[in-house]
Amino acid sequence: MRICITGTPGTGKTSVARLIPMEQIELNDFARKNDCISGYDTKRNVDIVDIDCLKKKIKKRNNILLVGHYSHFLECDIVIVLRTNPEILESRLRKRGYDENKIMENVEAEALGLITQEAMDLYKDVYEIDTTNIKEEDVANIILKIIKGDGEEFRAGKIDYLEWILRWY
Ligand code: ADP
Ligand code: MN
Repeated sequence: MRICITGTPGTGKTSVARLIPMEQIELNDFARKNDCISGYDTKRNVDIVDIDCLKKKIKKRNNILLVGHYSHFLECDIVIVLRTNPEILESRLRKRGYDENKIMENVEAEALGLITQEAMDLYKDVYEIDTTNIKEEDVANIILKIIKGDGEEFRAGKIDYLEWILRWY
């Protein structure tokens, strides 16, 4: 089974995945090490990742966690989207040293639920976990529960941070 852990940057993907005793691929590192970078986005200061290249290089891997904010564009059996209250996300990204534009872009995407939307357009088995008020270990345990097939209560579509958008106007 291929479990894709996705979510806006800062929602906790990397920290939580580390707590799960399963083989895993951190996609940003993997893309760099495997020449799956197709360019550089100078506006956002990030590498442009070649998804088809990643797909090819990960094709034969099974029983693995694929970790990254575009993991839902790969071939997944289950997609798990991590979510965070936009205000808390903003402070996490500020601590990380992101510039103002990048913070706003990500916070807005989170408030809109963009990644959940993308994942639900592509897959049937999509789950969401709100990491705002729970510890990383608890998030990891929920992921294990979902993988076991016991995560119905975490089916995607219930988390709504849209009201946060209205506060900015
Ligand atoms: P991502 O990989 O999704 O970008 P990280 O795992 O790097 O996110 O986490 C971003 C920041 O949020 C880190 O400083 C991390 O310690 C913190 N963090 C992650 N999960 C939680 C959580 N459940 N509760 C509080 N802080 C968290
Ligand atoms: Mn990460």
